[in-house]
Amino acid sequence: MNEEEILKAIDTAKEEIINFCQKLIQTDSVNPPGNELNVAKVISKFLEENGIESEIFELGNNRANLIATLKGAGDKRLLLNGHMDVVPIENEKNWVVPPFSASIKRKRIIGRGAVDMKGPLAAMISAFVILKRLNFPLKGNLILNCVSDEEVLGEIGTKWCITNYPEKMRADAVIVCEPSGLDPLPKAILIGEKGRLEVQIITHGISYHAGMPALGVNAFEMFNKIFNNIHKLNSYISPVIPPFSKDELKSMLIECFGTKEIFEKIYEDNSILQALIDALSNFTCTLSIVKAGLKENVGPGECTAILDIRLVQGQDSKEIINGLKKLINDVGYPIKSPDSAAKNELYVELKINSLSEPSIVDRYDYEIIDILKNTYKEIYHKKTFKFLMPATTDARFFRNSGFCKQTVVFGPGNATQAHSKNEYIDIKDLINATKTYALVAARFLK
Ligand SMILES: [Zn+2]
Repeated sequence: MNEEEILKAIDTAKEEIINFCQKLIQTDSVNPPGNELNVAKVISKFLEENGIESEIFELGNNRANLIATLKGAGDKRLLLNGHMDVVPIENEKNWVVPPFSASIKRKRIIGRGAVDMKGPLAAMISAFVILKRLNFPLKGNLILNCVSDEEVLGEIGTKWCITNYPEKMRADAVIVCEPSGLDPLPKAILIGEKGRLEVQIITHGISYHAGMPALGVNAFEMFNKIFNNIHKLNSYISPVIPPFSKDELKSMLIECFGTKEIFEKIYEDNSILQALIDALSNFTCTLSIVKAGLKENVGPGECTAILDIRLVQGQDSKEIINGLKKLINDVGYPIKSPDSAAKNELYVELKINSLSEPSIVDRYDYEIIDILKNTYKEIYHKKTFKFLMPATTDARFFRNSGFCKQTVVFGPGNATQAHSKNEYIDIKDLINATKTYALVAARFLK
């Protein structure tokens, strides 16, 4: 049995892989509420038809995780991870096809989740199935892990699997199969990602009749005082040292552009690339929502704002939260909860709405990175490169808990398509990714 047979079998199964991808997109798993059990059942049926047993772990409310293992002769273990939930549709009318039709146009499958990540999910599951069909002699175990709740950064998916079934999930290497194309670049092997901290700040003033401002304190003006000082947050925390400087990030990209000159030329005119490199080498804090005021003639007694803070690797979220609290105190407001505040007291409430810590691999020369690099080149005829991600994936659960440091993100589709209208995956990319996953598994478990 050789690798050529794997590639041939995937070409033969092309229509079947496309149909399976369409079926996944057509199966509702919009999160919230999730309903991932619907998808888990479709996957489990496809596996069963191919003689593979899988376990569905029901979580209640029609939600579930799934694990299946292809047993080989040795002890080595490679895990492929993908989430089954998708984000909601904002306005169906803006789509060129109904978003759950999974219609094919111009050699692309269009639909919610095509790229994030039912397309990648179809590729990783198909790779698994093809290896089983061929009875390919793996010298280790290939584990398939399909999870819930990634889109709301929930904890009942990957984290739940690691916590509750560490033995089934045990892995020497993990590929989180999220899309890793960053247009106009070739696909990247993502070795780290930023963290995200969402903080809600509620300023409590005293509402008043707009005709007599002396009677109250405008909560929006209170927030404004805080926000005018937010640029000082850096001085409340330890110096930020990103894992890679701007120049180092650029040189990672030069690898796939060939020469420095070509890269610099493209970089100069490409605002997306510039913004990407900027984001990856900096700690950022963005004010994303401010709400105040209920009536035209009343000074608002309450103002709610959201800060979206992105952490670089090595930054401690607790330190940032404490720094923010100190900054608010220094502006002149105590941090309190409504229960502990006195009547008519001016105070600020601070809530952590969501937190994902940043993560990164501990070595850049892992075997899985080399194998992916070589295999990608053979299948896609392009050079891939190691890079960081400005967003968050479930990779953090594997890396940060120390469960599996050798965790990378690699998958078909363009990451910039995720959550967008008319989300699509190129059929060629879908098939090539299936080939890549199958060959990488065969090579890693050799
Ligand atoms: Zn995703």
